[in-house]
Amino acid sequence: MPELILFWHRRDLRLTDNWGISQAFQRSPKIVGLFCFDPNLLEQDDVAPVRIAYLLGCLQSLQASYQALGSQLLLLQADPVQAIPAIATTLGATGVAWNRDVEPYARSRDAQVAAALQARGITASQTWDHLMHPPDAITTATGTPYTVYTPFWKNWSSHPKATPSDRPACLQGLTAAEQDLADQSGCFTQLPTAQALGFPWAGELLIEPGEGAAQRMLNAFCDRALTSYAEQRNFPGIAGTSQLSAALKLGAIGIRTLWQAASEVATQVRSEEALISIRTWQQELAWREFYHHALYHFPELTQGPYNRIFADFPWQNNEDHFEAWCAGRTGYPIVDAAMRQLNETGWMHNRCRMIVASFLTKDLLIDWQWGEKYFMQHLIDGDLAPNNGGWQWSASCGMDPKPLRIFNPASQASKFDPEADYIRQWLPELRSVDTAALVTGKIEPGECDRWGYVTPIVDHHQQQQRFKDLYQRQKNRQG
Ligand SMILES: Cc1cc2nc3c(=O)[nH]c(=O)nc-3n(C[C@H](O)[C@H](O)[C@H](O)COP(=O)(O)OP(=O)(O)OC[C@H]3O[C@@H](n4cnc5c(N)ncnc54)[C@H](O)[C@@H]3O)c2cc1C
Repeated sequence: MPELILFWHRRDLRLTDNWGISQAFQRSPKIVGLFCFDPNLLEQDDVAPVRIAYLLGCLQSLQASYQALGSQLLLLQADPVQAIPAIATTLGATGVAWNRDVEPYARSRDAQVAAALQARGITASQTWDHLMHPPDAITTATGTPYTVYTPFWKNWSSHPKATPSDRPACLQGLTAAEQDLADQSGCFTQLPTAQALGFPWAGELLIEPGEGAAQRMLNAFCDRALTSYAEQRNFPGIAGTSQLSAALKLGAIGIRTLWQAASEVATQVRSEEALISIRTWQQELAWREFYHHALYHFPELTQGPYNRIFADFPWQNNEDHFEAWCAGRTGYPIVDAAMRQLNETGWMHNRCRMIVASFLTKDLLIDWQWGEKYFMQHLIDGDLAPNNGGWQWSASCGMDPKPLRIFNPASQASKFDPEADYIRQWLPELRSVDTAALVTGKIEPGECDRWGYVTPIVDHHQQQQRFKDLYQRQKNRQG
């Protein structure tokens, strides 16, 4: 009888190009999947219902994959620190395997699970899968972590890239007696609804969940948009990016699969523009990795800014302004369109994420951590490392050598939504307003009244100056 290995899935909801699975398969074909709905995570106040709906869809697809290979995915709803060692013992598993995570909570939880397993004589195998290169593999010449992206990219991109691993051809599942034991120990196979978990999501999912869907999205992106990515990626009204971030967050697709697909396209194209586009996309994949490495080495980023000038920054934190920003009612059309898109779909284009984050921090003078949390509460791809990194970058308090970066909503809209198509899509009440007025945000107050829209809640130029003054004062105070 082959030994039983339980594979604990967390943010690797796939069987193809899953390094933990491939390694476990070398030990035994009897691999049974396990997913734990962790109350410590579900009870936090930054869970987005849309993300739960996407997660459940990915789990459904993973269940089907296990069944197709002859095994099963067991579900648990309990604290993994107690539940995983207990179920492994009950089933007589010789090992529990999982892929590692950079987040502080996950690291501490995993250390406790590993210790409890080892105390029971069960092997705990942990593998790096989520990243192209593990955090300790990319360091400066003196062995310290990078805190600036460009040298990180130079080093990271010079390392050879692994190719994806295959999915096992077939697996062996639990016997009927073992399945009974699992059932008696609280495991279940029927997926709960998002509503039953306390996160009702009535909307349609903009991004189809699951491993097969992620692979189809990657193929479509490589066929349709990868080679024009450099020119198109900044226009929120154009489908110029991959929309693979949610799949990457939950591991419905592996990072090596993405890298290989892009590298293959690079071997087939001739034009300099196409090659630049492919490189630009690969640089975005490296941004994701940069932020994951940063969080691994500096877990304190979750608590506050990297740049200490901002440690006690006098944010104004006007709650009415925050509410207006959340609801998409600031009177700045590009900001409001983006926030309405987020609220309605759980998605926001990267350009718009930068615009609304700059607006919240530099125009409304509201603490970036408020925005960071709001994003986590609403994004389908909400992910601690890139979200925290994106917010710290936008607030100018992160690992970015440029001291102050302030986005002017009008110039951003003129450059990236020149015909106001995106603004009109998300602010339908302004559909018949003149394009120039929508883009510059200079809508006559009478027109605002007529269409039920708000006049700007702050003046961009004044606020920008206030922000600069506050920043300078903080800088002087710190010598
Ligand atoms: C304030 C703010 C908050 C953000 N919050 C998140 C978040 O919670 N989750 C998240 O995955 N990304 C976040 N990002 C990064 C970025 O906006 C998204 O990754 C991107 O919009 C996803 O779209 P895409 O999959 O079409 O990306 P593509 O343009 O196709 O890029 C491919 C992949 O590269 C990675 N990537 C792209 N841009 C970035 C970036 N700037 N930083 C880090 N990784 C990047 C993503 O994994 C993305 O899927 C945030 C950015 C900002 C400015």
